[in-house]
Amino acid sequence: MRKIILLLSLFILNKSFAQLSGNKLSDKYVLVIHGGAGTILKSQMTPEREKAYQLALEKALQTGNDILKKGGTALDAVEACVRSMEDDPLFNAGKGAVFTNEGKNELDAAIMNGKTLGAGSVAGVTTIRNPITAARAVMEKSPHVMMTGAGAEKFASQQGLEIVDPSYFYTEARWQGLQRAKQEDSLKMKSDHADTARKSMLKQLENRDYKYGTVGAVALDRYGNLAAATSTGGMTNKKFGRIGDAPIIGAGTYANNNTVAISGTGWGEYFIRLVMAKSISDMMEFGKMKLKAAADEMIMKRLPALGGDGGLIAVDKEGNIAMPFCTEGMYRGFIKSNGEKVIKIYKE
Ligand code: ASP
Repeated sequence: MRKIILLLSLFILNKSFAQLSGNKLSDKYVLVIHGGAGTILKSQMTPEREKAYQLALEKALQTGNDILKKGGTALDAVEACVRSMEDDPLFNAGKGAVFTNEGKNELDAAIMNGKTLGAGSVAGVTTIRNPITAARAVMEKSPHVMMTGAGAEKFASQQGLEIVDPSYFYTEARWQGLQRAKQEDSLKMKSDHADTARKSMLKQLENRDYKYGTVGAVALDRYGNLAAATSTGGMTNKKFGRIGDAPIIGAGTYANNNTVAISGTGWGEYFIRLVMAKSISDMMEFGKMKLKAAADEMIMKRLPALGGDGGLIAVDKEGNIAMPFCTEGMYRGFIKSNGEKVIKIYKE
């Protein structure tokens, strides 16, 4: 009998030790961010502008790094990174968002917790200063996953989030971007005598370079949890009520501790149709593919094959990183717990 009790207590002790070590804070963390993909060419960039982007990306990385280093969660880190870029007029998210055809700023954002598969998003909002924080509130403070327009704004205000006048989002550069997009549209209408389908295709092709600049962050924290966040103003000259891929869970944003955390940027309609982020997760989970192979298959092959373009950032449960894009460039960077830090803009 004493032997059994001894064995039993040894078993229990062993189990709680294993549990303890399982919860032990690891030293390892990884943070990856993007500031949008598109026709970003060194030949079209001034040194000042390049420096400004580098500094903005650096600031966002540093913000997230401080959180992860102290043992903060991936969720806190990705939200803070995205907020930092939402507040920076350089990016097409929060202040600096592009204009719709009607001259408004309609913002989309989403966040996902890889540990619980909890997710939240807001779409088409015009008065919430930091849409990513509203998305997190939807995830944590409501029974819902997605809220749009006036309802999302009412909810954000009830949650005590900062509400601003729509004019807060105005920037001269984005306003001029809308005027250029409209002008090109009307010129095209006058000169193009091709059939309607061709006309609309050409129009889409022209517009595609006006829609990039979205921001996103993905992280693996010291508890082994993954999270993803994305925020955008969508595409210049978009129609009223158009929603992109960023706030669609599984398209532009996805996180699952079993596989990967992903934030996308690019031609949203194609990311939605390809169910981009969840497809990569599924290829890893059910197809046993490695992150790089799965992400390349979707971004470098299937996306352009369908007629779209863009890129994404991803970190898997082991801390492997992928940052593929099939555009000219993508503002991107990562930082790891071992101190390795990279910030890049153009193709290699
Ligand atoms: N994916 C975004 C959208 O279509 C645009 C972007 O990434 O810049 O709304």
